[in-house]
Amino acid sequence: MTLCPHPDCHEELRGRNAFLCPNHFFILPSREAQTLIRLKVAATRSPHGDIREHLESQLVGYIQIAIRRAIAAKTPINQQENSCV
Ligand SMILES: [Zn+2]
Repeated sequence: MTLCPHPDCHEELRGRNAFLCPNHFFILPSREAQTLIRLKVAATRSPHGDIREHLESQLVGYIQIAIRRAIAAKTPINQQENSCV
């Protein structure tokens, strides 16, 4: 069982290519979400274990950045603290 990586979320991920729960998937800009889906599919389909692991670990970082950016975009500027992404 894998949980949604959003810090305020405890939803379980559903589906082989899911990397966020549906609620948080749609907070991402659509272009960014599509890029992450392509990377997730590439990682899932890779026949080589080491390449798959590498892509999955890259994806974890990209998803964290995308979530932080989406949260910051929703937060008024005067409430942001040290947001560098
Ligand atoms: Zn979520």
